[in-house]
Amino acid sequence: MIRQTSSVVSKVSHGGILLSFRKRIVVKTYPSTRMMNTHPPLRLMSASATTDPQNPVIESRPHFPHLFSPLNLGSDIGFLPNRAIMGSMHTGLEGNSIPKFILPFLGSVENHDNLEAMATYFERRAKGGCGLMVTGGISPNKSGWVGPFAAKLDSEREMELHKVVTERVHGIRIPSMSNPKDGEKARICLQILHAGRYAMHPFPLSASATKAPISLFKAREMSLGQIQSTIHDYVRCSVLAKEAGYDGIEIMGSEGYLINQFLVKRTNKRVDEYGGDDFRNRMRFALDIVKETRQATGKDFIIIFRLSMLDLIHDGSSWEEIRLLAKAVEDAGATIINTGIGWHEARVPTIATIVPRGAFAWVTKKLRDDNTVSIPLCATNRINAPHVAENILASQCADLISMARPFLADPDILKKSMEGNVEEINTCIGCNQACLDHSFIGKTASCLVNPSACHEDELNIIPNSIPESERLTIGCVGAGPAGLSFAITAATIGHKVILFDKAKEIGGQFNMAKRIPGKEEFHETIRYFSKRIKSLLDEGNLELRLGTEIKSFDMIEKNHFIHKWIIATGVEPRKLSIPGIDHPNVLSYVDVLRSNLSVGQKVAIIGAGGIGFDVAEFLIHQNDPNRPQNADAVSIPHFLSEWGVDSLYQSRGGLVTGSSSSKRTKEREIFLLQRKKGKIGSGLGKTTGWIHRSTLLNSTCVEMLDSVSYEKIDDKGHLHLARDGEKRVLETDNIIICAGQVSKRDLQENSNASWANKVFTIGGAYEALELDAKRAIDMGTRLALNISKDIHPRMYKTSSKIGSEEKLFKIFKGLMQ
Ligand code: FAD
Ligand code: NAP
Ligand code: SF4
Repeated sequence: MIRQTSSVVSKVSHGGILLSFRKRIVVKTYPSTRMMNTHPPLRLMSASATTDPQNPVIESRPHFPHLFSPLNLGSDIGFLPNRAIMGSMHTGLEGNSIPKFILPFLGSVENHDNLEAMATYFERRAKGGCGLMVTGGISPNKSGWVGPFAAKLDSEREMELHKVVTERVHGIRIPSMSNPKDGEKARICLQILHAGRYAMHPFPLSASATKAPISLFKAREMSLGQIQSTIHDYVRCSVLAKEAGYDGIEIMGSEGYLINQFLVKRTNKRVDEYGGDDFRNRMRFALDIVKETRQATGKDFIIIFRLSMLDLIHDGSSWEEIRLLAKAVEDAGATIINTGIGWHEARVPTIATIVPRGAFAWVTKKLRDDNTVSIPLCATNRINAPHVAENILASQCADLISMARPFLADPDILKKSMEGNVEEINTCIGCNQACLDHSFIGKTASCLVNPSACHEDELNIIPNSIPESERLTIGCVGAGPAGLSFAITAATIGHKVILFDKAKEIGGQFNMAKRIPGKEEFHETIRYFSKRIKSLLDEGNLELRLGTEIKSFDMIEKNHFIHKWIIATGVEPRKLSIPGIDHPNVLSYVDVLRSNLSVGQKVAIIGAGGIGFDVAEFLIHQNDPNRPQNADAVSIPHFLSEWGVDSLYQSRGGLVTGSSSSKRTKEREIFLLQRKKGKIGSGLGKTTGWIHRSTLLNSTCVEMLDSVSYEKIDDKGHLHLARDGEKRVLETDNIIICAGQVSKRDLQENSNASWANKVFTIGGAYEALELDAKRAIDMGTRLALNISKDIHPRMYKTSSKIGSEEKLFKIFKGLMQ
């Protein structure tokens, strides 16, 4: 198949640029000789080694030339300025359908009844260089709501609300080689998402009457009439989106939502023309939507179809079905095919930190190499750095890449990449703690490493915005996440900050977290903070004093006048009073992760919170010579085989048949213990806890015991337990205490009482219970933006107002229990 080359009617006059311009915008020239790839490469190759001679990219942009190549979507639509799409994420800013009469019952909440905040959020990403963005999922009707009164677009009134979003986005021009003078306009597509059986409300509809393992309610089967009206609703939603000014739509056909539910036999048990053994019937629903949407919206409207290329569920789509669907979707009028990886109910991690960078680009490449379709294909999942994107594009896995969470972490990721300032990128660490975990409880999304995300107006960090007369000199003790976020924010807006840490490096507990296998990305956050500190040192707003333990403020005040002090001294491990606790075999997690004390073969871990799980993971891999030291070195083939992914795609859904995942060899014997009755790890992250549990269980090294009481540690260092009325002795070489933490408050306690209004405490030093880096960074950032000469502790808002969606979710959850 030969693809059409888009000829350039270039206004660029001088030859050199014209030549490079011509070559760069050869948009889609798939060589007719491209052969079926039988085994997709699981390692991305370097850009220089793989540049396609038939589709050359001239290095007219010095950094990431493939990423910053424009892409021609044809004369009706024009050029995308670069190859990055901001993928859809539910943020909670999309509005809701909560009837007005319910609002008074929700109390004092922030209701997203207009889309101003959403407009600001997208405008900010466009200013950072993103040329095509996709909104969070918006339902075409009520039955498709993801939760009660979720966002939908089925009326003129709702359409009017969206105009502010498209107007603000269209006001931004994105630098592009396709139009070096004026750039290309920023574009935005609305994602249409019908949840089907994933709906968290009592009236879900699906292809058949089934219940998802992650859903509360069983869906009812759609009648033929309901199918027709739902198709009509998709089309109406698309037309309304166009009227609101959107440049296109994304039809959510993956992740196990309604369209996906029609596609696979596991959820489609129909026997009519929309179901049955014949795949042409099961894909009819998707195709009718694309076809009728194209007819209704015209040629100048982008239609992205998010196609589930790897379901990661048993009885999912076969590769042949995916090829057929892709071709049919193209024929029906789609402009771009985006990649979907894994249904929500899949038990293979697809976006968490543990997933190697670019781990699923091979799937998109497989379709691209098939030469089945000629429209652009977009690769997704764990693409969080420009070199990862560049490698995917250069090794011809895809024509576009989609990043979603990386734009929460840093709205300027593309701008910084284009300018070569990659060290300044605040990298998404894949933790899900402030984005996905929030959206699952109706809370407005944000980002652990960037609390301003989705709170752009509330936490607006403007360099040197504090008037000279109001600038303070502030001492900050502790350069962990709380102190660092305070210091860099305060110094950025104009205060003078002196940052102290007794350690020789910045980062606090993140220096332990980064050593955990699967948390290699935490290095990036420390790198980002280091780079910001260096810039602020150069600008003169920050002074960093490492290796300096502050025992009293007086020691500094002798030589400096300090307006305010910030205590960000964090936490220390809780000390237990079990008899025998002083035995030399007893260690704390700090002894293991920071001091590198050696640990024996048989280990009991007291405490099964986040740190207990992390220590277990660390110990399992401790003697593994292949353990990666940084996120780029994490092996994709190893990850895929460990989680049972069939990289040859010989089975439906892309899962290795007969086993869910490969087991590791037994390195150690570990007991992970908690006193509470119930599932171990139930307090871990909503969207990541199951991954931590699975990795430990699959290792076969870990035995998890709940309901234990610790009786004593004997002279041999063995742990005596009681459980369900029975005594048990664990003949351990070491016992590691991971039993939570207490605030490190000695400085506060030693400080002069008359300074009460001068001293602020943040992060773990403020409150150790349920502390995490999200709260520490958020607290530091908020205080920095609020601090002034007259402000005292407790005089400023330490968190955002609760949103109506979150309140409604809490009420709904209460009713369900
Ligand atoms: P800390 O990080 O404890 O920093 C305090 C700093 O103060 C330290 O650098 C210390 O040296 C310095 N200091 C203390 N006293 C003095 C003094 N008198 N003078 C000068 N300096 C002083 N959180 C998450 O959200 N997600 C995770 O996945 C996650 N994983 C983790 C994994 C591990 C193994 C560990 C240990 C923690 C993890 N955490 C995680 C928790 C997270 O790291 C903490 O919540 C966060 O670091 C707390 O930040 P902080 O700044 O309040 O305190
Ligand atoms: P944690 O989550 O509060 O867990 C503490 C564990 O110790 C619990 O299992 C608790 O269970 C046990 N414990 C508490 N008091 C005890 C006592 N007196 N004697 C014996 N056992 C006791 O704390 P953490 O594991 O130290 O983690 C600290 C914070 O870091 C967490 O809040 C977490 O948010 C964050 N973190 C997050 C991640 C992540 O992946 N998101 C990873 C690591 C850390 P019982 O009381 O039932 O015994
Ligand atoms: Fe990425 Fe974590 Fe931020 Fe979500 S909260 S965008 S996963 S860094």
